[in-house]
Amino acid sequence: MQTWACGHEGDEGHSRLCPHLVCAGEVEYARVLRGQGLESDLCCPDCASLIKNGESIEWLRVCEACVELHEDNSYDLIEWIGKPEIKERLTPFDATLAETILSVDAAWAVAIAPLDVTRWVGFWQKEMFLIDGAEVAPICAAPPSTQKDGVWGGPHLAPSVSTSLDGRFAVLCHTRGRSGFVVDLEEKRVTMVLKKTPNTPFYVAFFQLDERNFLIHATDWMRFDISDPENGTLLSRREGHYSTFENGRLRVSPDSQWIVVEQSSRGGSERVVAWNLSRLLEEKFWESKEASPHRWLCSRDYLSDVPVAWVDNDRVAVWGISPDEELMLNGARVFDIHSGEEVFAFAGPSKKVFFGGGGRLFSAEDDGLHIWDASMGERLGRINGFKPQWQRGDFLIELNASRLSGSRVRAWNWLGAFD
Ligand SMILES: [Zn+2]
Ligand SMILES: [Zn+2]
Repeated sequence: MQTWACGHEGDEGHSRLCPHLVCAGEVEYARVLRGQGLESDLCCPDCASLIKNGESIEWLRVCEACVELHEDNSYDLIEWIGKPEIKERLTPFDATLAETILSVDAAWAVAIAPLDVTRWVGFWQKEMFLIDGAEVAPICAAPPSTQKDGVWGGPHLAPSVSTSLDGRFAVLCHTRGRSGFVVDLEEKRVTMVLKKTPNTPFYVAFFQLDERNFLIHATDWMRFDISDPENGTLLSRREGHYSTFENGRLRVSPDSQWIVVEQSSRGGSERVVAWNLSRLLEEKFWESKEASPHRWLCSRDYLSDVPVAWVDNDRVAVWGISPDEELMLNGARVFDIHSGEEVFAFAGPSKKVFFGGGGRLFSAEDDGLHIWDASMGERLGRINGFKPQWQRGDFLIELNASRLSGSRVRAWNWLGAFD
């Protein structure tokens, strides 16, 4: 067995070290990118200065444990030097965008969301509307008790609409307010009023198990509940332990088996965790294990509301390479939901919006949509100028609502594009 520069045997570490880091204990270090994906070596601050002045330094090969010793002390990382390699494997695909013009001026809507490419649910003037091509039909008014929350408009409250997977229900809530309500779009009635402690994130999401709809919604500073959107019945129990974390955005897997939640504590610590939704329903949520998540994916301090997307039913991609919020590189970390382990990371996607499907990650960038192979970390192509805001089934959907030129909808069928 080979003995490495640190004097140890065993497997070689995936990074090399400058001589001053070898067996140096907990000391500050820089990461020097090699220009091959995210591969990097570690060096001390003095060697980092030399490298930045264009000088070369000695690199030593050490054992795996000696590299991990530094990596485990992630707060000792002071900077990245160089740039990661963004891999590209241009692949032919169908980039055709289906275009529709909505006859209504969607720019007036306080909040809007697609049911499919031509049908939308919108909210304005205290009323929910269904927009179907050229037709606009009122559904119902906001319940009076939610109007006490103040005006529904206003950017500080950020109202948003979400719709159930089957298009039966829609929910409107202030993502930073304290009230919301659920509407049955078929029966055109309010089925449930939502309340939440003010000035904390108020996120909601539908999921569907055995063809039944459920709504998961934040209800207090540190808790969320599951309700039946058809009648508002609470399906999670109120007694039991509270988490010490505030729940942020909720992202349900395509098969509704898992939900990924970004959580933050008042001390600024942030983590990305996942629950199995079938198990949550069986456990009635608060009864077991102090409401502890079923999977811990990653934690990064002071970093919240980052792009997260499911690339398929088993893997979820989380933006940002680095343990420290001030040293983040654009890229995605891919986690296997069954093991909770990080299986891959790659450079490229920026901190805008992520979507995913079919093993691919889609990032909406300044110049348009970038398409990534989430297993290889390679950019497969782009659709210039296309910046979708929603994913609905097999489609990514973009709405350009302008009071001058009308509302243009463009949609890309990502599932059929690579056949
Ligand atoms: Zn050094
Ligand atoms: Zn060693």
